[in-house]
Formats: sequence, structure tokens, C-alpha cells
Amino acid sequence: MITSFHPPVRTLMGPGPSDVNPRILEALSRPTIGHLDPAFIDMMDQVKVLLQSAFKTENELTLPVSAPGSAGMETAFANLLERGDKAIVCQNGVFGGRMKENVERCGAEAVMVQDEWGTPVDLNKVEEALKANPDAKLLAFVHAETSTGVRSDAKALCELARKYDCLSVVDAVTSLAGIELRVDDWGIDAIYSGTQKCLSCVPGIAPVSFSERAAKIIRERKTPVQSWFLDLNLVMGYWGGSTKRAYHHTAPVNSLYALHESLVIVQEEGIENAWARHARNHRSLAAGIEALGLSFVVEEEYRLPQLNLVRFPDTVDDAAVRAALLQDYDLEIGSGLGAFAGKVWRIGLMGFASSQKNVNLCLAALSNTLR
Ligand SMILES: *Cc1c(COP(=O)(O)O)cnc(C)c1O
Repeated sequence: MITSFHPPVRTLMGPGPSDVNPRILEALSRPTIGHLDPAFIDMMDQVKVLLQSAFKTENELTLPVSAPGSAGMETAFANLLERGDKAIVCQNGVFGGRMKENVERCGAEAVMVQDEWGTPVDLNKVEEALKANPDAKLLAFVHAETSTGVRSDAKALCELARKYDCLSVVDAVTSLAGIELRVDDWGIDAIYSGTQKCLSCVPGIAPVSFSERAAKIIRERKTPVQSWFLDLNLVMGYWGGSTKRAYHHTAPVNSLYALHESLVIVQEEGIENAWARHARNHRSLAAGIEALGLSFVVEEEYRLPQLNLVRFPDTVDDAAVRAALLQDYDLEIGSGLGAFAGKVWRIGLMGFASSQKNVNLCLAALSNTLR
């Protein structure tokens, strides 16, 4: 007979999910209520306010999509693009490639700006592409490329998009609450994130936000959004501001308690303090990594503090080390993706997992295992 599942207790220092704060797990276990219950609707309003605060935006169209980060990505493209549109997509890792797939599945054309993995999006190349494609509707890029540990200059990229009258679409799945991110100040038109990276919440929800400029384009589409579930014109009937809420789909009630709690935790710490904590713990990890004779792939200036790409010597058995960390220390770190497969580890210091205690654990475990 199959019995109840009890997962092992791990320390999650990979590319996500990150360690979930016990307060969030406790919130998740509170009683389920109806998704149109007045008490639940009050909580939804609070989630929206907390999300606006975390994104640093006053965008009315700010809500959590009931599906993981990839659905946030799909929400942005499916709602903004129509058949025959053109989008400029920057790729410097795995997730830019996923953006291209999305654009093409919307029946739009993706003009690619390629940069080497491990380097940020090149502003000059982007400006060339914007000049060469005056008919492009949007510029899309990944702020924090989780596959390579690189931060691109979101502020400058959004300025370029504005200069050439393009909408900006920003993947902030790994950046939200980990590094500086200012939706309104930077003029971001569409942004999506995920719950399981620096928010340290359970996976499965995608916070999104759209500027009024982007919302107008969505309201005035010539053709309906191809995805019924992700059509924001419909979703707004449920999440909408002043209007009476109508059933669209059953919200993941308990997961939204969890998101609420994670955003309360961010608010208590202060998001600027969270950014500073991520930077501090990265520096501490970096010093220890270099003392072990290992090196970083990404130049210091562009490194993500929440996702560290560490190169190891050819003599090291990648899979064996990661298996030993898991077995002997209950510690998960990430393997390399795509061009970096088998060459690097991805050590996450995301959200609740970004602590001096975890830095110490990881360095001690790596040191013992490598020896
Ligand atoms: C994790 C991640 C995604 C996808 O999120 P899921 O929740 O796995 O669907 C998208 N973009 C980036 C940059 C990510 O790190």
C-alpha cells in the first residue's frame, strides 16, 4: 500500500525553488475558504497592494497569475502580441530562448539579439536592432538570467525601448526581491516574476504587472488573446479593482495565503534591506569559493548575488559531488544548464536561503566533499 509522502528536509541552494520560510508553510496550512468569500477578497486586495510595493509600481494591472513563472512569461507575450507583430528578443541564456518560442507561438516574428552566455545583454546591439526594426512592438529581455548568473541593465534597456517607442517586457522571475528592481522609475511596461526564487514562497504563482500604456494595448486588441486562461481582459473580471468579482477560475486559495505571507515578510524586512542582504551573503560566499580554489564565471560587475555560477576543475566529478552534497549534507545546489552543462555549479542564495548560515554550510560541505 502506498502511504503518505514525507519529503526529506533539504537546504535548497540551487536555481529555485529556494528554501521556504516556515512562516509561509504555516500560512499554507490555514483553512481553505471560498475563493469569492469576502475575507478572501480582502486578502486578494492586500496581495495586490503588497505586490505593487515589491515591484515599486502603482500599476493598476498588477496581480498573481495562478501558474508558475513560465505562465507569467506567456501572459506577457500572449496579451501584448497579435499575429504579424514583431518583437525584439534578447538572448544571453536559456530563458531568452523560451521568450523566442513564446513570441513565435503568438504568430509574431522574433528578431533576436544574441549575446554570449555569461555576459549581459549588449546595449549597443539592442539599439542597432531597434533602429533596424522601427516597426517592432516590444523589446523583451531577462533581467536576471538564472542559467548564467548574469544581471543585465534593465534600467538602460527600458530607456532604449522608450526612445524607440517600443514596449519593454522584463523577465524578473529571479530578480524580484533579490536585486534592485523599480518598475515605475525604470519605465517597465510588462513584468513577470515567480514565487519560488527570491520570494522564497512555494512554486506555482507568477506575479505580473503592466503599465497603463501596455494595459491600453491589451484592452484595444483587434483579436482575442489566443489563451482563454491567460487572457487578462477575462482575468481582470476576477482580480479587477472596483468592479464586482466574477468567477473566472478557482484561485489557488492556500498558495495565495503563502504568497501573502511571503510579501508580508518582504515588507517587514524592507525590500532595499533584502537587496543588501543578498549582496552581503554573495560577497561572503565568493570569498569562500575563491579560498577553495574555485572561480566565478561571470565578471564581478554583472554577477547575480542570488545565483552564483562557479566553475570547477575538469578533474571534479560534477554529478558525484552534487549527489554527495545531497546525501551527506541534505544540501541541493544546481547543475549547469545548456552551454554550461557539466562545467559549472549554480549556487543559489535566494530569499530565505540567503543567509550566512547557508553560506557556511555550503562552503564546509563543498570543502569536505572536494577533499
Ligand atoms: C525559473 C525561471 C523561469 C520559469 O519559472 P517557472 O516557475 O519555472 O515556470 C523563467 N525565467 C527565469 C529567469 C527563471 O529563472
